[in-house]
Amino acid sequence: MRVDVVTIFPAFFDVLEVSLLGKARGAGLLDVRVHDLRDYTTDRHRTVDDTPYGGGAGMVMKPEPWGLALDAIVADADAGDRPTFIFPSPAGERFSQGTARELSEASHLVFGCGRYEGIDERVFAYAATLGDVRLMSLGDYVLNGGEVASMAMIEAIGRLIPGVVGNPESLVEESHEDGLLEYPSYTKPASWRGHEVPDVLLSGHHGRVAEWRHAQRVERTRERRPDLLPGDLEA
Ligand code: SAM
Repeated sequence: MRVDVVTIFPAFFDVLEVSLLGKARGAGLLDVRVHDLRDYTTDRHRTVDDTPYGGGAGMVMKPEPWGLALDAIVADADAGDRPTFIFPSPAGERFSQGTARELSEASHLVFGCGRYEGIDERVFAYAATLGDVRLMSLGDYVLNGGEVASMAMIEAIGRLIPGVVGNPESLVEESHEDGLLEYPSYTKPASWRGHEVPDVLLSGHHGRVAEWRHAQRVERTRERRPDLLPGDLEA
């Protein structure tokens, strides 16, 4: 998968060099290219923002550098490639595990990181002439910029690309894959600082372990995220 990121803070993405995604890049599974929006400005001060039409607090990202950056990315892509443009936004649709799965099948994603009060709205309309556009929210809170949100989405999507996570079975059992949260996990030692591993996990009885884990998943979901609980499991 090819991933382009447009940002005024390219250094945020240095961490993509490490851990599983760093290995995925090394193995050629993920081709990430980070672009500095200021490289697409045309004035001496490399200006990327201006005051909002209609007044109001804060600054808005100017459309011109965005237009040039998106054009350059598309010009550099394979012929006929229509990328999916993802603009992180607290006013976007909610990003979920389902969205991550769907986007993990794309061949080319472009993340556009907003700052200040956001990006001039016409940039989204222009991007829609070049490919699909998704405005994606990480949750109901406001971050300072789209960098952290893009990083989170790149990691959630990237780990679902076949080959990135060593054991694909570990992905199937995770929280948010089937509506339930994951069961609690333990490793050795069996007793630690007065806290014991539940007996059932030491029993070696696969059926009872599976039953216990399912019950834990339902209980946790009911307690922590009742909004996720499938209808047939509601109390
Ligand atoms: N004025 C905007 C609003 O009220 O919708 C918020 C702008 S925010 C300070 C600057 C940038 O941070 C946004 O353009 C977006 O890229 C990013 N951002 C902030 N919160 C986010 C969230 N919950 N999910 C995804 N991106 C977010």
